[in-house]
Amino acid sequence: MSMKDEDIQRMSQALKSGAKLTPEICPVCSSPIFEVKGELWCLKCNKKVVKIRENSEVVGAMLPYTLNNLSTVVAEKLEQLSGLLSRLTEPSDIKNVADTLSALLGVLSQSESLKEKLRK
Ligand SMILES: [Zn+2]
Repeated sequence: MSMKDEDIQRMSQALKSGAKLTPEICPVCSSPIFEVKGELWCLKCNKKVVKIRENSEVVGAMLPYTLNNLSTVVAEKLEQLSGLLSRLTEPSDIKNVADTLSALLGVLSQSESLKEKLRK
């Protein structure tokens, strides 16, 4: 991380006016985060920071939703491709689509088993 004089200036200014240095760092620029009037600020980006405790917490909260979306998308693709497959006659084309279907089924089954695990 590179700090410009004006950044350091702004940070020391903030500290003088009552801001507190927190142990958090900015996810964008890795500068220390300051608490200003109860809000977290990155003074280098000059932006308010929404605090996220743990990356894994966010991933954990988002994952079921993401997996649901993924399963829906994969199911749609499977439907389209099986429609396509029924119209194909060229063995190499059929193999191409079959390979893709197989890959998609793999994704779907992984997604479903992951969802299953998350429910427990
Ligand atoms: Zn920043």
